[in-house]
Amino acid sequence: MKLNNSSLKNKTLNNINPNNMIIVMKRHAPRAQAEHVMEKITQSGLQPIPLHGTERTVIAVIGDERSFNIQKVRAMPGVSDVMAVLKPYKLAARETKHDDTIINIKGIKIGGKELIVMAGPCSVESEKQINETAKAVKKAGAKILRGGAYKPRTDPYSFEGLGVEGLKMLKDAADENKMIVVTEAMDFASLDNVVKYADIVQIGARNMQNFNLLREVGKSKLPVLLKRGMSATIREWLLAAEYILSTGNPNVILCERGIRTFEDEVRNTFAVNSIPVVKHLSHLPVIADPSHAAGKRMYVSPLAKAGIAAGADGIIVEVHPNPEEALSDGDQSLLPEDFAKMMKELKLIAQAVGRTL
Ligand code: PEP
Ligand code: MN
Repeated sequence: MKLNNSSLKNKTLNNINPNNMIIVMKRHAPRAQAEHVMEKITQSGLQPIPLHGTERTVIAVIGDERSFNIQKVRAMPGVSDVMAVLKPYKLAARETKHDDTIINIKGIKIGGKELIVMAGPCSVESEKQINETAKAVKKAGAKILRGGAYKPRTDPYSFEGLGVEGLKMLKDAADENKMIVVTEAMDFASLDNVVKYADIVQIGARNMQNFNLLREVGKSKLPVLLKRGMSATIREWLLAAEYILSTGNPNVILCERGIRTFEDEVRNTFAVNSIPVVKHLSHLPVIADPSHAAGKRMYVSPLAKAGIAAGADGIIVEVHPNPEEALSDGDQSLLPEDFAKMMKELKLIAQAVGRTL
């Protein structure tokens, strides 16, 4: 493209800040249309720099275009394409905060060199079940006890959790074993109860884009384990994290739990590639959930290893003392002894990638 605009005299393409928006006008769009676009940009407090070529004009925009409505520009006459260069998830992006976020919860650091393991049953079912599980997973090296008291179930006739009673059992079992608690809030009502007992609030895959709930959990100020929606892109997932971060709550932990694909041999397809990708795009810690990805016990340990090898900051795993009697997700729940064996094997993987466990 031949650049012939005088405003470029002091600004070569090299010294235009690359973190900006580029607007491409249609071929032979009248000059007045480009001028209209530039006027609107200037009115928004941003600086347009037109590059008039022989066939079309390209307008580079300097300033933080996130304060600007890109859709509006797309709709302007003569505009062919608009490319945003800055990430829309401003607070979650590594380009905004370079260093890894390490979340310290009662001395347990998530996102540092040490890998963190969260383990426990899918659902809290009884005092005996949760106590037995807590004791076993703690002994094998888990620091955080998981267990659902409010369960999002596909089948409306299946077990939906013990509610507040389940939360109390979970908290008691965690205290007894010097662990902390992660448990899911499904809606505003359950969030009110969950915040009283949890150290980390889980937002499940089905609620990843429940934007009002994201804002509400953000306001709770508790750390949030944000699971990836089963058909969410990485960008949508990071934008969901942004909802929480934008409430002033910096403690978001991402969790890859598999996405839905055409493959039906497994419950979900473990998107192991998202782990290095979100690590690159974001400073937030990432946890792998091999249980919901696999759906079958036999695949949990290999996927956990893959997650750690790919750079996850830890794992969340379902463990049940008697999986065949489990009220949810028995197929994918590890027996305590399988969990202990997996933990031993994971230590070697951790070492190989410069982490400790
Ligand atoms: C769970 O952790 O038990 C759960 C329901 O997970 P997900 O939201 O990832 O399906
Ligand atoms: Mn489950």
